[in-house]
Amino acid sequence: MTLEQLVRPNVRLLTPYSSARSEYKGQASVLLDANENPFETGLNRYPDPLQWQLKARLGELKGCAPERIFLGNGSDEAIDLLVRIFCEPRQDSIIILPPTYGMYQVAADIADVGIVAVPLTEGFQPDVPAILAAASAHTKILFLCTPNNPTGNDFDPALVQRLLADFPGIVVIDEAYIDFARRESYLSRIGQHDKLVVLQTLSKAWGLAGLRLGIAFAAEPIIQLLNKVKPPYNINQLTQEAALRALGATAQKDEWVHTLLAERARLSQALEALPYVEQVYPSHANYLLVRMADPVGVYQHLVSAGVIVRDRSRVLRCEGCLRITVGRPEENELLLASLAALA
Ligand SMILES: *Cc1c(COP(=O)(O)O)cnc(C)c1O
Repeated sequence: MTLEQLVRPNVRLLTPYSSARSEYKGQASVLLDANENPFETGLNRYPDPLQWQLKARLGELKGCAPERIFLGNGSDEAIDLLVRIFCEPRQDSIIILPPTYGMYQVAADIADVGIVAVPLTEGFQPDVPAILAAASAHTKILFLCTPNNPTGNDFDPALVQRLLADFPGIVVIDEAYIDFARRESYLSRIGQHDKLVVLQTLSKAWGLAGLRLGIAFAAEPIIQLLNKVKPPYNINQLTQEAALRALGATAQKDEWVHTLLAERARLSQALEALPYVEQVYPSHANYLLVRMADPVGVYQHLVSAGVIVRDRSRVLRCEGCLRITVGRPEENELLLASLAALA
């Protein structure tokens, strides 16, 4: 299907809100067009609605044209907008591959859009024939989360390639954990696939979950649709400034990633050595999925020791599992000490 056919008609025909700052973009000394307070507070002016300075920096860092970048109030905003751009309520659906990130389903539920769940295989890989069999003119978006949350594995690139080639709708590849994976981003494929959206975020490796900045990369027609439906000033001035500052400090991010990868390996080994741990799944992210005999008992024990992990034991294909985020070295020590006390 073409992009034109995939977009909801009302969105295709939409006249977007036109803000003062999008109507006059030049440098003027007297701005009397936006009903702002003229007295300087550092924040008295509306921010750049399209965040060009920040996108220029991101584009440089990622090797991507700024016109192929959309910024959201977290990736969650991009997920929500994509569902609302492409899926007609009570008519269209998204395809998700459980077990996976919960926000795809929540965004669809809020928009009253259907959900077609095609579970990952036993090895946590996309079931390509089943996905393509489930695809129809109404399954507008396929969400691929790789590395996948909560399983931690990266999908086989050959399977992703087949879905990029054969899925008729929009393919969203959520790369929230790309900095912890050992491969290139699918961002480099945007030139070849006009219906591909790659999501990244400053919430994980960059250490800025509190900032709320998510990134969508796509060919320009999809970016233009996202810009058309987003709230005009969705990224506030403080966020734009803090993100620019953080993106200047790539060495700090790299050092954190280096430390966390070493800690992930150490934690994985130590967990495997515990008698009640049945399996530590390989991870390309900053967490480990761990299968054990009594996950709820272990969870409760950890809570009483002041260590909170995520109980995923009631999630499809994650029976018996806790998801454990890799912490600072001393936090991981505390976790391991508490777990050793149970052995
Ligand atoms: C954490 C996470 C995100 C990040 O969402 P933000 O809204 O950018 O904080 C996105 N996708 C997945 C799979 C995640 O685990």
